[in-house]
Amino acid sequence: MCMEQLKTKMADEILDPAEAVGHFLKRLNDEVSNQIRLLLEEKHLYQKVKIDRIEEFRREALRRVPKEARGSVASRIETELQHLLSLTSGGFPTRVSMEGGPKLVLCLNLPIVRLFCHTCKRKEPFGPVWYQDATNEMLKLRRDEKIGRNFDVSNIRLYFFAYQCQYCEGAPKDF
Ligand SMILES: [Zn+2]
Repeated sequence: MCMEQLKTKMADEILDPAEAVGHFLKRLNDEVSNQIRLLLEEKHLYQKVKIDRIEEFRREALRRVPKEARGSVASRIETELQHLLSLTSGGFPTRVSMEGGPKLVLCLNLPIVRLFCHTCKRKEPFGPVWYQDATNEMLKLRRDEKIGRNFDVSNIRLYFFAYQCQYCEGAPKDF
């Protein structure tokens, strides 16, 4: 069997519902990470990237489970999409799976990016050295009544990242 056939065969493999949701999360996590790389490397600050492949990944996951499992997989994907993105670097966090739930969590995995370094005077790989999920922090402040409660964070996602040149290890850039 050649490599191409093997790939096709694997792609068509039937998954159980938890695997299908996990597969969806894996694809989406990779995509989020790729889009963030694009944003940091190629787009100006304050521009946006759109994660518009969610539907494609959802259809892909649903196609790979038996028909009777599709409803439950669709609603589990919906539940996963309600969660805030966990901010992470250098890999995807997993969680203990209860009753066959997905092991992956939805996350923003900060990639290594190639940026122009003003000290090195050329493009070098930069890695995340510090990051903060400001939305989550604001929610905590609101919960503890340390800031006003009169705002809706459901449409706000504020993140701060500091990236450092891995070559000269100079002053980090902020995003
Ligand atoms: Zn440098």
